[in-house]
Amino acid sequence: MELELPLIWFIGVGMKPALFQAVCPVYIIEEEPELQRFVIAPMDEEAFVRRPTDGDTVLQATIKRYMSRETKVRLHQPVFRSTVLRAYEDRCAVCNLGHRELLDAAHIIPDSHDLGIASVVNGMALCKIHHAAFDSFLMGIRPDHVVQIRPDLLEEVDGPMLQHGLKELHGKPLMKLPSARGERPKRELLDMAYGRFLAGTAA
Ligand SMILES: [Zn+2]
Repeated sequence: MELELPLIWFIGVGMKPALFQAVCPVYIIEEEPELQRFVIAPMDEEAFVRRPTDGDTVLQATIKRYMSRETKVRLHQPVFRSTVLRAYEDRCAVCNLGHRELLDAAHIIPDSHDLGIASVVNGMALCKIHHAAFDSFLMGIRPDHVVQIRPDLLEEVDGPMLQHGLKELHGKPLMKLPSARGERPKRELLDMAYGRFLAGTAA
């Protein structure tokens, strides 16, 4: 902290095998000796190269940036993604698609909401299509883990993506859940998200 040197922070996201998400560069911006911990803030690479011009040191600029929500999100995002994808063994919860490039770590309750925490119990690994369908209420997930497709979509006739990718999944249970119970979606969060789906469907 005194030398204002950039560090690489390895955050554990899984055990057996041990997996870490590297976040860099980060700076130690504060010491909390009574709690025996440090406050760590990420610095985006762009700002690092640009160097602050207003007389701030890198550390001072980092502290200013850390105060913005944007920076906190940038730190949480890769850790949330790694944790969720690992828990779902790189598979879409809805269709079991197993290509990491096509998967997202979706929030059950959006992170703009107070309860939208970046925790695996508020997450699900979803492929791009199912993530977008979930976020736009074309698809809901019942608290008992059954997929629901918006009624008007079930009436629609179209190509294979609509048919196999959405309509045929209606009423089917999720295909992939974390094997550890403690990592499965929290019931209250699913309840709330399903309520939002029903409200969206009725509208
Ligand atoms: Zn999917």
